[in-house]
Amino acid sequence: MIMMMPRESILEWLSREIPEYVFSQIAAQVLFQCQNCGECCRGEGYALLDEGDLRAMARELQISPGQAKTRFTHPGPQGDFACRILKSVGKDRDCCFLDIERGECRIYRSRPRVCRTFPMLSSDLEGGQAIFFYPDCLGTAHFVRMILEKRDEPSVKKDVERLEADEELRDILKIKLFVWMQELMGEVKGAEEICRMACIDPPSRDGAFERECLAYFLLTISTEGIEEYRYEGSPVGRMPENRIKKGCRRAQAPPQVPQSQHGSRSQTSV
Ligand code: SF4
Ligand code: SF4
Repeated sequence: MIMMMPRESILEWLSREIPEYVFSQIAAQVLFQCQNCGECCRGEGYALLDEGDLRAMARELQISPGQAKTRFTHPGPQGDFACRILKSVGKDRDCCFLDIERGECRIYRSRPRVCRTFPMLSSDLEGGQAIFFYPDCLGTAHFVRMILEKRDEPSVKKDVERLEADEELRDILKIKLFVWMQELMGEVKGAEEICRMACIDPPSRDGAFERECLAYFLLTISTEGIEEYRYEGSPVGRMPENRIKKGCRRAQAPPQVPQSQHGSRSQTSV
């Protein structure tokens, strides 16, 4: 919980509570563009939920959290309430909320946090890797191509150098990344409050924030070996007109905001 804090106190709180690599992950998630292939809403993995996810889902479905839990989830790997998993249906093990005909998530506005943060906020902490590049995520393939195209552009290199040289710019950007994450989690008022307390503008929608995120990502994450990435999924996807409103699932642990862990498939990581 962030109380009334000046910018320095917010930064102190962030550095105490949030590992550095998470800011790189958030920057990558800002840059990530889902291609709506639907791959992450089906398969052998599973989406983990916590009680907050269940409450949000229940609110949207206008049922009680207990009913949502019984009707749409199974016990998690440890069998406890704090770690439920969404039910799967059909031979492809589709998420029970995936509307194949319409190509949509039926609970998009209240989808679990793990669905909101896939794939760039997935990490392999045991392997010490902050970023995974999922071979069957079409958006990841686009992300990798974008990085390969952009990383040597003079203007991008200049942005990276500017960010490296300016600590205050980095600090403000870290607060903005946190604010962006809060907005993603639906904490809009909290995000506005942080901006107000830190005396910063919210993340812009005009491309400037994305440019800063790209510079931050390249400054903090080594892209050496990224050329090895190979996309192994279907370039078309299987959804009608290849569209699903930002799917995401298949985690191995519940996300601790602002971080999540996904797994179950082979991964390339940096
Ligand atoms: S996030 Fe999911 S739906 Fe979006 S491109 Fe990746 S696998 Fe496909
Ligand atoms: S985003 Fe996909 S996995 Fe998540 S709840 Fe919706 S359909 Fe299920």
